[in-house]
Amino acid sequence: MNKKETLHKDDMNYVWHPFTQMGTYDADTSIIIEKGDGSYLYDIDGNRYLDGYASLWVNVHGHNHPRLKQAITDQLDLIAHSTLLGASNIPSIELAKKLVEITPSNLQKVFYSDTGSASVEIAIKMAYQYWKNLDKEKYANKRKFLTLKNGYHGDTLGSVSVGGIDVFHSIFKDLIFENIKVETPCFYKSNYDSEQEMMDHILDQIETILKAHHDEIVGFVIEPLIQGATGLFVHPKGFLKGVETLCRKYDVLLITDEVAVGFGRTGEMFAAYHEDVNPDIMCLGKAITGGYVPLAATLTSDKIYDAFLSDEHAKKTFFHGHTYTGNQVVCSVALENLKLYEETKLIEHIQQTSQILADDLNALSMHPNVGNVRGRGLMYGVELVADKDSQTTLEIPKVEAIIKACKARGLMIRNIENVVTFVPILNMSEDEIKTMTRTFKEALFDVLGEA
Ligand SMILES: *Cc1c(COP(=O)(O)O)cnc(C)c1O
Repeated sequence: MNKKETLHKDDMNYVWHPFTQMGTYDADTSIIIEKGDGSYLYDIDGNRYLDGYASLWVNVHGHNHPRLKQAITDQLDLIAHSTLLGASNIPSIELAKKLVEITPSNLQKVFYSDTGSASVEIAIKMAYQYWKNLDKEKYANKRKFLTLKNGYHGDTLGSVSVGGIDVFHSIFKDLIFENIKVETPCFYKSNYDSEQEMMDHILDQIETILKAHHDEIVGFVIEPLIQGATGLFVHPKGFLKGVETLCRKYDVLLITDEVAVGFGRTGEMFAAYHEDVNPDIMCLGKAITGGYVPLAATLTSDKIYDAFLSDEHAKKTFFHGHTYTGNQVVCSVALENLKLYEETKLIEHIQQTSQILADDLNALSMHPNVGNVRGRGLMYGVELVADKDSQTTLEIPKVEAIIKACKARGLMIRNIENVVTFVPILNMSEDEIKTMTRTFKEALFDVLGEA
């Protein structure tokens, strides 16, 4: 057996892939990535693929970027890791300051972790303990969270508790805590006559719940603007602001999960800026290091932070932390990532390429199997249907055949059920964006025909 065959065989024998049914995983034909360069991935057979999913929504400035690599090696020349428990380190201090500068104004403190799930887990525990620290008796009943149906906030049990994707979550229902879930404001998936009617109605539902139960509710956990993992459910303009207003009115915390939408993905540095929203707690992950190494952060206000202060060790303390919290290497590369955002005026670039992505995909709406094109910034989904009027889902094998045809043409993208998702590397050129949409169009026509 040659090296490549051995790798394919060992992949099947030893690796359990995430979110993957290993019973149908085909290791012989699976793609094993060997290297990356700019917007492209290269497999062990020498094939080149445009990275249309930004290596799972994380890559910002491209693969193998000299500056990001340099940031890592420069830090390694000093030290790889020391703990943030009771001591500090230079990159974690500098990055915290930078994150506070670029996020909404009331976010003033940074708590590090290493995955988006952990950042949400921390947000949940922080919010819960905040009320207990303020007044244990008065807020004794505050133990539930309000969330949207079909939400996704990660895979640890706390983040699963505030999530709502049945295929992922229903098996764990005995292990998770109960929450209150509200209808998702995604117009295409709804039965309302207009977006405005839908938004008004759902905000009314939220108000009714808050009026009756605010004394039981810790906070509202929401993926702002776009619910990603459920199939890119886009919310109408004004919904997030409406949620913020209600949270303030009924004194529950607003917890925004910007793990997917943060760092420019929707065309503003953070989704909160589209609607001038000031969350009490904000979760960040994915693109924070430019997609190089795992890091996440939970940001919060002085108001919440101050409720944890006391002069005794075991009183009001936030007893949470991970071994690698605030690791120097990951914080260094995150800092360099953020410098590159400024130097390359990346947000302006995204606003331009976003228009191309939107126009190219919207042009496919004529196709009988394209039911809906939706998204913001560089985060778009094309929902494929068997029939436009009834919105019947296109059979998944056909969707998978399109994804496969894209790969054969050198484009790496993913589907979420019958939604093909376009979440490219954020600094992709206009030409690369066009290559991505053209390749998809060819694959679509190839599998389903032109009309
Ligand atoms: C990806 C994601 C998470 C989970 O992040 P991990 O790093 O995979 O744990 C949480 N929330 C949202 C909105 C996400 O998209």
